[in-house]
Amino acid sequence: MDVKMACEKCGAEPEKNEEKSNENWSVYGLTCSCGGRVRFVFEE
Ligand SMILES: [Zn+2]
Repeated sequence: MDVKMACEKCGAEPEKNEEKSNENWSVYGLTCSCGGRVRFVFEE
């Protein structure tokens, strides 16, 4: 099962925030460009 981040409205994956991310931790914006909220999506 995979976990990824995706917008609950349009399903787009958010862009990684390169400024806040490092090699151990990826930081994503919590609001999509469409205005929807980004959340964790579980895929089997
Ligand atoms: Zn969206």
